[in-house]
Amino acid sequence: MPDRTRFFGKTLAAAGTAAALVLATAVPAAAAPATVEQDVAQLYQDVIDLYNGLPADALRGVDRLIESPVPQFGPRTKAGPIPGCTEGSLLTYANKLASQLTPLEGQALDALSGLSQLYVQGVASDKTPQVFGTDGQYTPRATDTIDKLRGFWDIESWNIQLVAWKGTDLGSQAKMAQTFSLGLPPAKVKAAAALATKVLYEVPGMQGGRNPLITLNAFSAPAGSLGGKRVALGDGLLDTVNILGFDDVSVESVVGHEYGHQVDFAHDNYPRNESSEMGPDAYGGYFVAHAKGYAWNARTQQEVTYLDASIGDCFHSHGTPDQRKAAGAWGEKQATSQGNPNRIVPTATMIEKFQKEYPKLMPPADQAATAAVAAAHG
Ligand SMILES: [Zn+2]
Repeated sequence: MPDRTRFFGKTLAAAGTAAALVLATAVPAAAAPATVEQDVAQLYQDVIDLYNGLPADALRGVDRLIESPVPQFGPRTKAGPIPGCTEGSLLTYANKLASQLTPLEGQALDALSGLSQLYVQGVASDKTPQVFGTDGQYTPRATDTIDKLRGFWDIESWNIQLVAWKGTDLGSQAKMAQTFSLGLPPAKVKAAAALATKVLYEVPGMQGGRNPLITLNAFSAPAGSLGGKRVALGDGLLDTVNILGFDDVSVESVVGHEYGHQVDFAHDNYPRNESSEMGPDAYGGYFVAHAKGYAWNARTQQEVTYLDASIGDCFHSHGTPDQRKAAGAWGEKQATSQGNPNRIVPTATMIEKFQKEYPKLMPPADQAATAAVAAAHG
């Protein structure tokens, strides 16, 4: 079984109450058609079976940008919330979207999001032209960013793919059949693929794959995982970052961050603490501020750090908003304060420098809690 997140647990309870109120005032004969519910339940089970049938290392090391309000299939971290911490604006927004779903929509979204992630991780390839953004509006920026990053950092880069994560791919039975083939017995693949596209259009809230929650994320996958080295960029994430006002910097910052994970992967640097996320924030900051990167000015650099903060959480998983902001700003400062603006620090050195800085950006949790309590008492 996939774990349900704490976010989604709340969502289901709230949505359940709303649904009960609706049903209480509805004409009994107009109850929701049972067939849709059966379809969604069956698809959900198919996706669980698919994940359970994957090769052992399929998801190992895959790093997602945010702890999505959409429950995730596969391994995840568990820890209590940090006292005195307020989650970032993007997470608040995503949780609000999720809280508006009915339980049926929530289950459909859960299955479809998990399925589309597996498509983009294990089937999609940049050998076919990738289209970024719901209307392709981000394709030039995404292409430019990955080209720049490949030339910027000194890691093996030609085989790091940048792939578009699109909910609309769920509408293709051929693509879904390829996806289910990754883990389902061959005899079950065709029916499961047909059911996925059926549910996509049978549940109106899925908007034919354009509900932003389906793809409200990005991830980086290491060599040896299903599909190999790649960065995936979700259309739902780009749309949401636009709504929150960070459109100017969205593609470059997010891809810069995800590529930062590839920098760590290339050096077998897998920290088991928040530096695993804050490091890529720092490398991404260095890249966008650097003369050989985007050479963004102080105002735009500031915007990037606010975007970093917007995805900070309070669960000791990806860093708090303040920590992420500090990590991004530190990276930017490394670029703007170095003697020769054109020199690019080798990745091994950058990792070492960040690991030295990290303890200062990351006060122990009890210290942060003490500070919060002190602030609350004036
Ligand atoms: Zn990350």
